Parts: sequence; C-alpha cells; structure tokens
Amino acid sequence: MKYPYENKNNPILSFSDMSRHNLQADCENCFGFCCVALYFSASEGFPVDKDAGKPCINLQSDFRCSVHKSLRKLGLKGCIAYDCFGAGQKVAQVTYGGHDWRQVPKSAKQMYEVFLIMRQIHEMLWYLAESLTLQQTCHIQGELSSMLNETERLTLLSPDSLIELDVAAHRGDVNTLLLQTSELVRSEVQPGQKTSSRHQKTLGRGLDLIGANLRKNDLRGANLRGAYLIAADLRGVDLSGADLIGADLRDADLRGANLTHSIFLTQAQINTAKGDSDTKLPISLTRPIYWSK
Ligand code: SF4
Repeated sequence: MKYPYENKNNPILSFSDMSRHNLQADCENCFGFCCVALYFSASEGFPVDKDAGKPCINLQSDFRCSVHKSLRKLGLKGCIAYDCFGAGQKVAQVTYGGHDWRQVPKSAKQMYEVFLIMRQIHEMLWYLAESLTLQQTCHIQGELSSMLNETERLTLLSPDSLIELDVAAHRGDVNTLLLQTSELVRSEVQPGQKTSSRHQKTLGRGLDLIGANLRKNDLRGANLRGAYLIAADLRGVDLSGADLIGADLRDADLRGANLTHSIFLTQAQINTAKGDSDTKLPISLTRPIYWSK
C-alpha cells in the first residue's frame, strides 16, 4: 500500500510533491471501483452502456481489466481518460481496511457512494497540493496548508461521516483559495499578454472554443477555467501560467505546446488530448505512451 506519503525512492520530494504522488491512481491496491461505481455509456468511450453499481463486463475476479492492454485499440477513450486521483486505493485500503465489495456485498452500495465522494475530495487535494508548490502563492501558503490539512482529515472519516459530508460547501471553501492562486499566477504573465482580436473578448471561464484555431493566440496567463477546448488547435502554443482547471481538452491538438507552467492541469485532461514528444508537460504529469513521436 502506498498511502499515505510513502516515497522511499525519492527523498528530496517536498511535502506537496509527495502529496501529489500519492494522488495518482494505484490500481493494484484498488478493487476496481471506477469500473463498478460509475454510470457510463458506450458513446462516451466506455465498453457498453451500464448503470452505476454494476461491474463492467471486462472487470475480472481479481479486479483487473481483461482488455487493459487494448483500451486504445478498442477506442475506449473514457477508460483511458478516467482518473480517480488516488481515491480508489484510499477507499479500498484505508476507509474499508482492505475489504472489497465482493467480500462484503452488503456494504457494496455504500462503498461505491464513498468512492465517488472520496474522488471529489482527492481532486481538491490535487489542486491544493499544486497551489502549495507555486512560488506565486507565498503569501497564502498558510491558508493553503490549513485547507490541505483539513481536506486530508476528511479523507480519514468513517464511511457514514463521508456520506453525510457537505462536499459542495467544502469545495466552495477550497475554490476560493484556488481562485486566489489562479489570479496570483496569471497576473504575473498577463501584462505581456497579446491576444488576437478574434478571441480577445471570449477568453474566460466556460468558453466555447470547440475546434478553434488558437495557434496565433497568446494564451500565457489566460483564464481557461472550464473552457471547451475540444479539438482546438493549440499546436506550438505557450500556455505558461494559463489556468486550465476543468477545461475539456478532448482531442485538443497539443503537439509542440508548452504546458510546463500551466496550472491545475490533470492527467485525465492530458490523456484525452493529442500531443507529441515536443509537448512540454508539468513534471507531475506523464506523457501518454500513445502520443506521436
Ligand atoms: S474496460 Fe476495463 S478499464 Fe474500462 S471500465 Fe471496463 S474493466 Fe474498467
């Protein structure tokens, strides 16, 4: 079990780096929660239409996926993209102490519910841990640390307490700090921002930039929170300091783009996009093996 904060291989990692390391999925220590708890449909890149709480047809008795090596070939983009932020192993090994939903069928429904809540909490931890690594947040590090600790504490609650938790209220508190972080980071690069007239007025939260050609836009420090960047052309674009929290990057073309210092980017977003060996990623994220050379 890797949780919590266990990293004997790299002792120079900071607390936040270790936090983020442990917020990555560890399927070996999970009981396939994401393959059972979620509702999903074939049209979203999953094998079949299925109800929440029903195991996927490809989930084996050992909780491994029988088609894991062929997900891409089979076009199962939904499976490739999904990221639990380490919630799966936390629920399996900590909340339920290694008992799985097959061993304890009467708790199965509760386990799925707890997994979905834990995933939201772990996602918040991911963003908070990242905020703590940014030098621009030096004046709010105390608030960020307190919120990280409080959020960590929530992950250790009992199943009943987790189900009763007001996740939306906690998310609101976390989001206030994430917005402050975003403003601090973006304000450092925005003064030099030159955005072409076509998109100048449209940059901002929840934008529809589906299929847009953004190659000539200066997106450094841009607010792209929740933007729909599906199939957008971002080849060679410098996204330093851009806030990409919740942005939909499905099939966005990131070949040659620089995302090294973008903020609030997740592995799930990267997994759904197109990229190549020239795409620069934050150190916390992994280059998908199926990206072009
Ligand atoms: S195909 Fe595999 S990864 Fe996808 S939901 Fe089914 S078991 Fe999980």
